[in-house]
Amino acid sequence: MNITNNQNETSVFPIGNRGSAEWFSGEVHVQGLVSPEQMEGLYNVGQVTFSPGGRTHWHTHPIGQVLLVIEGEGWYQERGEPAQVLTKGTTIAIPKDVEHWHGASADSKMVHIAISNMFEGSNVTWMTPVTDEEYAEVSK
Ligand code: MN
Repeated sequence: MNITNNQNETSVFPIGNRGSAEWFSGEVHVQGLVSPEQMEGLYNVGQVTFSPGGRTHWHTHPIGQVLLVIEGEGWYQERGEPAQVLTKGTTIAIPKDVEHWHGASADSKMVHIAISNMFEGSNVTWMTPVTDEEYAEVSK
């Protein structure tokens, strides 16, 4: 599969555009599905495709976030907690203001749908990158 194609053989939705290095490490693509403007400014829905090793920076959500894993394998970790394995069919409900990251495993892509409520026009507060050391630690 060529990750740069707008569609691939298995994903339901288009892969979207490359995510900003301000917010992601490695190769990550984001496809918006429902914008806040369509939903009275209340929530946002998107698909995120993480290539192997790709991951978000540490971040929080002001009202929380739901992740629905639709393909591949990856990790979800809250600050100070053991990482949880994500596989196709995993649902994660992230509480508000809990610092965390999510991403692919080192040897598999991971695709999730993310549903995030908006608060005062924003659905996320970005923090520092997940370092290579932090990332290596979860897969031990
Ligand atoms: Mn999140």
